[in-house]
Amino acid sequence: MSDRLVRILTGDGTLRAAAAVTTTLVGEICRRQGTDPTATVALGRLATGAVLLGSILKDRQRLALQIEANGPLQKLQAEVDAEGGVRASVRVPRCDLPPRDGRFDVAGAVGKAGFLHVVKDLGLREPYRGTVQLASSEIAEDLAWYLTTSEQIPSSVALGVLPGDAGGVAVAGGFLVQAMPGALPEELAAIEDRILALPPLGTMLRDGLSPEEILAKIFADIPFSLPTSTPLHFSCSCSRRQARAILMTLSAEERAAHGDAELTVTCEYCREIYSFTGAELGNCT
Ligand code: ZN
Repeated sequence: MSDRLVRILTGDGTLRAAAAVTTTLVGEICRRQGTDPTATVALGRLATGAVLLGSILKDRQRLALQIEANGPLQKLQAEVDAEGGVRASVRVPRCDLPPRDGRFDVAGAVGKAGFLHVVKDLGLREPYRGTVQLASSEIAEDLAWYLTTSEQIPSSVALGVLPGDAGGVAVAGGFLVQAMPGALPEELAAIEDRILALPPLGTMLRDGLSPEEILAKIFADIPFSLPTSTPLHFSCSCSRRQARAILMTLSAEERAAHGDAELTVTCEYCREIYSFTGAELGNCT
């Protein structure tokens, strides 16, 4: 199944939801980053979470999530645009943590003490920035905590990433349900009960459920709008020009110290390597 983000709104407009399958996308991100299985789960969850929080984006808007904490992964970032382009990175891609209670120790890899930053570039003069302390470091709960406390939209977030037995990613995806003003408490309670009664997300993804089918399981008899679907793909906005600009922030002396040797910049997201000769940087030799 190709990766997609699907959005719906309930008939009375009081609940909105998004579900995504991100298996290929997370596989590509983690291949580029060289992650071990625990880092794959952590980064896959953050990238999928960014896709879900980005379901509100339109036109040229962008959203970025960043987690900085005291675990071995140190820093994780994910960025999405309104066209389903996604990129993500992790500062230390291998943590070699043993499983905990039979599960990948994402909280241990991320670190218990740290912050989740959310930046939304909605095309206004200043991007919107929000920050919360990490709640559980399992990422889904942290995103729900951010949405509920910082944006004051009661939200439920589920993220599932299962690494493949031979490396890579077997399945990845998630869903987000949000209560809009006017949502009835009993309707919310019914949805929460239904989410709790669902099979584990990883199982639903492994069974090949589409985003629409996952949403249909959550909403069942509650009428909702025709789903809108956006294909997801890996997309990095880096460029040779940008890489050169980074090197040009070095002083002329620092650049000249390299003489004719090539200077390189590696994009932290896609890992593309940009090389420049001293002459290309205008060095005097
Ligand atoms: Zn790049």
